[in-house]
Amino acid sequence: MSEDSALKLLNYMTTPLNSSSVHFYGRAARQILEDAREKIAESLGIKLGREQYKIIFTSSATEANNLVISNFADGVVLYSAVEHLSLIEAAKRNLNSYEIKVSETGELDLEMLEDKLQKYNEKKILISVMAANNETGIIQNLEPVLELARKYGAFLHSDIVQAFGKIKFNVRENDLDFASICSHKIGGLSGIGALIVKDNIQVFPTLVGGGQERGERAGTEFVVAAFSFGNEAANIANNIDSNSNHLQELRDFLEAEISSSDRSYIVGKDVKRLPNTSLIAMKGVDSDLQLIKFDEAKIAVSNGSACSSGKVKKSHVLEAMGFNEDISKSVIRVSLGKNNTKEDIYKFVEVWKSIESKI
Ligand code: PLP
Repeated sequence: MSEDSALKLLNYMTTPLNSSSVHFYGRAARQILEDAREKIAESLGIKLGREQYKIIFTSSATEANNLVISNFADGVVLYSAVEHLSLIEAAKRNLNSYEIKVSETGELDLEMLEDKLQKYNEKKILISVMAANNETGIIQNLEPVLELARKYGAFLHSDIVQAFGKIKFNVRENDLDFASICSHKIGGLSGIGALIVKDNIQVFPTLVGGGQERGERAGTEFVVAAFSFGNEAANIANNIDSNSNHLQELRDFLEAEISSSDRSYIVGKDVKRLPNTSLIAMKGVDSDLQLIKFDEAKIAVSNGSACSSGKVKKSHVLEAMGFNEDISKSVIRVSLGKNNTKEDIYKFVEVWKSIESKI
């Protein structure tokens, strides 16, 4: 964040910014909010307004996922088995929701999807397939999914939380009906997300009250976080190529350094992945132990799909991809950020090798 933006952010934090108020603070808040919306729209390749898209601010991507699913309570939801739990758990509340399998390399089973689409053709259907997975970084090819959605008149939602900012992703070109994003995954403040929706689709709110967000999500918007969200979105739009290249170079170097070990296994190594993500197994070594050792060395990695601090569940993603415990109990996830350097990678490799050598 530039110094100028940081100063603005600090200033906004101590200003009463309620975008629904009509006084001058309220009008300033409205302006900040709408500027952020514009910047986010631009970074996703969409325009705001009729015949295009709208952006509904939420508290998180979790809320965005829940919101879209709740709009299909009277319909059918078909979701991939590797979705984020905020999508899966919301979908499971719907009596008519079905998980679509994935292959060992994370590709959606299109035959199974088409079978379900045929079976429920009479109903209102939502297909939900994430653009890139948060544990493996594997990128899903949405083109055939979109084709099927259009063939059967279904709506298409994609959780693009992980893809946003890591790879070029254009919501309009992918013709998505809905997409979920959040600020903290692109380096902005936590506490804000958004559901992107085709403008002609009326969203039934789950939160009601003051009628904010055009009556589609009530609750005072988190204007300071929206400012930060918009700011980071604009940065992404300007720097995506150089950031991506930098991340991929580091990630590839890291993987090359540990690949010579018989104990290493990199999930999805040969398929299209996000440039910053690496899910690495050290076979025979529990991931908890690895985590402790990395933590001692002040390297922050995670294991499993950590939902909240200290709570690590067995990975439903690896299970869906058919991995046995040998791999799933020994994986750690490395997510690189734009501020990481080659020195960080040397340090990581050193610690990884020292853990391995002590077995
Ligand atoms: N979807 C994906 C793919 C994620 O990785 C995450 C968070 O890690 C979420 C949704 C939930 O986002 P939030 O933390 O904004 O609720």
